[in-house]
Amino acid sequence: MAKNRTDGGNEGVSDSGFRGRKVTTCSFCGKTSREVGPMVEGPSEVYICAGCVELCQNIFRQEKRRVNSVSSALGEVPAPRDIKEHLDQYIIGQDRAKRTMSVAVHMHYKRLLHLESEESSDLELDKSNILLVGPTGSGKTLMARTLSRILKVPFAIGDATTLTEAGYVGEDVENLLLKLLQSADFDVEAAQRGIIYIDEVDKIGKTSGNVSITRDVSGEGVQQSLLKMLEGTVANVPPQGGRKHPEQQYIQIDTSHILFICGGTFVGIDDVIRRRLGKTQIGFGSHGEEGVKLSDKASRGEILSHVRTTDIVEYGMIPELVGRLPIIAPLESLGTDAMIRILTEPRNAVVKQYQHLFSLENAKLTFTDCALRAVARKAAKRDTGARALRAVLEEIMLEWLYELPEVDHAGAEFVIDENAIENPGELSALRVARKESA
Ligand code: ADP
Repeated sequence: MAKNRTDGGNEGVSDSGFRGRKVTTCSFCGKTSREVGPMVEGPSEVYICAGCVELCQNIFRQEKRRVNSVSSALGEVPAPRDIKEHLDQYIIGQDRAKRTMSVAVHMHYKRLLHLESEESSDLELDKSNILLVGPTGSGKTLMARTLSRILKVPFAIGDATTLTEAGYVGEDVENLLLKLLQSADFDVEAAQRGIIYIDEVDKIGKTSGNVSITRDVSGEGVQQSLLKMLEGTVANVPPQGGRKHPEQQYIQIDTSHILFICGGTFVGIDDVIRRRLGKTQIGFGSHGEEGVKLSDKASRGEILSHVRTTDIVEYGMIPELVGRLPIIAPLESLGTDAMIRILTEPRNAVVKQYQHLFSLENAKLTFTDCALRAVARKAAKRDTGARALRAVLEEIMLEWLYELPEVDHAGAEFVIDENAIENPGELSALRVARKESA
């Protein structure tokens, strides 16, 4: 028995494919069969161990994915109109931002294609990262996330403010890249073509004398580290995350082709814009702003539509960073009508989701127009934009969903009216509103 053992300790392996009787050395990694077990023999005394076979398989798999994703994600970059139409299915309003983003993203991936194509010329096309300026819950994150879905590229979300809190900037920036890598199933090539959304970039502005908002003094340092990432750097990403460890192996990610979308509410920037426009109207009209006339009652959205790079710098962002975000897309705050549309129209609208849940219980759920308006009104009071819609509705629907599986509801239609919205938790509403079908 012992005579038949291979050097690697494997018993019963036939001699036809494996060489086990003498100590063999893997021609790829140089390890012996004593260390790594049996090997496959090729012609002319060539051997390969199991570890190297697995590595080869991974390389093939990654290469296949790379070729496929280049042809699917980049081979046919959707036209701006197609991107916009897709965005329309999920995002209500924000027409201008959607148009700007569609063009910017189309150009970004066209540029990558240009870089990867064999006949790429000497002409270098600059990367255009995007800055979204708009109130909380107006769809900034949703826009970035939806874009990554349309383009089928990896996506990660980060928050610029956490970079300050950690106090160890490098770590967080790299963790953001790790998130992207995870979203790409550790396919480095795919991650390097992904999209990163960084929220709350306005909160890391350096203190500016002109705007009365207290800011973190270290803001500028954080901006510098972000700048490095936006400009393009090769970062060492620890695959397990967390602090860097000398023994840990890093994955290197080149950020030069990652599309960065930054977002912020920029509270108070309307004053900066108003001041600039006011100035140009009085003394410096020749600077091209003479056509702009803002009434005293101009809405924030209207003022924001005039936002320029200089305003963002004035607000407290370092010019180098703003320079790396050449495309600025303002988003409007959402009015009641838009909020009602958000409740019902998007493909994954929250009302549609509840209706589906009810249909699983063989019941029908309807909201009256007044009820939808009441939900939008309630949500608006919370000052968190459309983000509050789900929360408001959830509070109301909780009681209904609690009861639903127990009541005899087969074929019943539940109508939610204004009263049910104004008095959540009143179970009577459930019974009153319940309409038996004929
Ligand atoms: P923010 O602008 O703060 O990043 P989000 O994109 O995170 O806002 O929006 C929060 C939620 O509100 C989204 O998940 C989505 O359900 C809803 N929402 C916000 N704006 C819109 C919009 N314009 N159209 C459709 N849904 C929206």
